[in-house]
Amino acid sequence: MLRIGHGMDVHRLVEGRKLILCGVEVPHTLGLLGHSDADVATHALMDALLGAAALGDIGKLFPDTDIQYKGADSIGLLRVVMRRLKEKGYRPVNADVTIVAQKPKLRPYIDAMRARLAEAMELEVELVNVKATTTEHMGFEGKEKGMSAHAVCLIETL
Ligand code: MG
Repeated sequence: MLRIGHGMDVHRLVEGRKLILCGVEVPHTLGLLGHSDADVATHALMDALLGAAALGDIGKLFPDTDIQYKGADSIGLLRVVMRRLKEKGYRPVNADVTIVAQKPKLRPYIDAMRARLAEAMELEVELVNVKATTTEHMGFEGKEKGMSAHAVCLIETL
């Protein structure tokens, strides 16, 4: 059986934080603010996977009141999500992630992002897509106040 899932996330951009997207550190003057490493793209992907399996969301799985998730590597959290999926008898089929950011240019990092996610999801890199778009300077992403990300995935029964 195939199931579909969708996830989206938003984080604020601030000075003095690293910018981590899909587990890849991207050089930039601003970084995303959050309890974990604030990897907005990996968060959207985890919510898509959890959504497909009807396992709730990352807020339920990793409460931001829990000290053990402070500064957490989101790729590590993605591995936990993968274990939860496996326990419920599912594996991912493919995933597609969209990052919404005005700056910086993400194209040079896309292949590294795909590789990072694919490895954590135990998928061929060809089954994981990452893309980025600006909002033509409109809205909070366009004004560089924050970034958002969307993800969809298919999962199947083991
Ligand atoms: Mg988040």
